[in-house]
Amino acid sequence: MGKNISIIGAGFGALTAARSLRKLDASARITMIAPQPEFIYLPSLIWLPSGKRKAQDLVVPLDKFLRENDIQFVAAEANGLADGGRSVLTGTGAVGNDGLIIACGGRFIKKLPGIDLAILPCEGIAPVERLRTRVAELESGTIALGFAGNPNEPTAMRGGPIFEFLFGLDTQLRREGRREKIKLVFFNPMPKPGNRLGEKAVERLMGEMKRREIATHLGHKMVGFEPGKVKTEGGEFAADIIVFMPGMTGNAWFDATTLPRSPGGLLQADAHCRVPGRECTYVVGDSGSFPGPDWMPKQAHMADLQATAAAANLLAEWQGLPVTATFKVELICIVDAIDHGTLIWRTARHNWLLPSSRWLHWAKRGFERHYLRQYR
Ligand SMILES: Cc1cc2nc3c(=O)[nH]c(=O)nc-3n(C[C@H](O)[C@H](O)[C@H](O)COP(=O)(O)OP(=O)(O)OC[C@H]3O[C@@H](n4cnc5c(N)ncnc54)[C@H](O)[C@@H]3O)c2cc1C
Repeated sequence: MGKNISIIGAGFGALTAARSLRKLDASARITMIAPQPEFIYLPSLIWLPSGKRKAQDLVVPLDKFLRENDIQFVAAEANGLADGGRSVLTGTGAVGNDGLIIACGGRFIKKLPGIDLAILPCEGIAPVERLRTRVAELESGTIALGFAGNPNEPTAMRGGPIFEFLFGLDTQLRREGRREKIKLVFFNPMPKPGNRLGEKAVERLMGEMKRREIATHLGHKMVGFEPGKVKTEGGEFAADIIVFMPGMTGNAWFDATTLPRSPGGLLQADAHCRVPGRECTYVVGDSGSFPGPDWMPKQAHMADLQATAAAANLLAEWQGLPVTATFKVELICIVDAIDHGTLIWRTARHNWLLPSSRWLHWAKRGFERHYLRQYR
């Protein structure tokens, strides 16, 4: 009988790991553990406020994928591990395994005073639907959008989507003839936010803000939020709607395990996605902290590359073969503005930036369709 593998999560990393395992080992018994048997395509959240996408467009039921790939599904949240990782504890019981891949995404740090007043758009569909409603209701005023990092781990953050929400809202409000009555402000504690994208990209994004008459409040440590207000050490400003993406950290349930953690609270991983010191235990995607350059992104694309390596390594480890698969570090994103997009592509060898074009917006939509087809 094939080996018994558990995968925690049903997002980008988890699904790619499952597909790779099935391709490499037809006899493996694969169990996926996640709250719902559905995949949420988070990158297209940026199109909810304008109505270009509806919630149901982003949610893919996984029944067909699970059936076709002979994968068992346990609808539960992991809340701990036992037997050195050979058992995943959940609210509905323990799930045993011979090997484990953890792919349960990230969590946002919510320590800033007044954080409940902000909309955290990367937490999924519900907050972005709230943003859409609030924007629709706002007759005049200010929408402030910003992001921050994890002070203990500079790579544990994601800023790209905030630029997309910002430019997307600008385009939307202009289309609706409301932009003159609604001010947009971008805030960030860094003087040069988004520098992981590369210096030229930051210049381009800041230039784009100027061109679109988006005000900026940069380089001041965040103090907190109050009703109608963003407060920083460099002063405060009025905001009717606050959209904020805090730095990332590890999931709360990691605290109930003895798994090694990075300075920022994520699960420590080596270059092969292995959790150091643990047998047959791997981590991929936003849950993990991986060795590599300081610009390594927290992106779906990285989760996919890591998941492919983790699947190959887990099977090699069982067979007593050397664990050699690594993943390429690649930042690739199209910063979309509803009708135009800018491509930023960074690897160890190059850092390219393509001029904003309509074609790139359509490329982002084409990629979405292509990606989702494999699970629909
Ligand atoms: C608005 C937005 C735009 C983005 N744009 C891009 C982009 O253009 N390009 C790009 O590459 N990336 C983009 N990203 C980033 C990308 O979505 C993430 O990096 C990616 O989702 C990470 O994949 P993951 O598998 O680690 O986690 P996720 O995709 O977040 O999946 C985590 C899974 O784990 C499950 N889970 C959580 N807790 C538990 C638990 N305790 N037990 C079991 N299951 C659990 C969740 O339900 C989910 O199924 C964007 C993100 C956002 C929010």
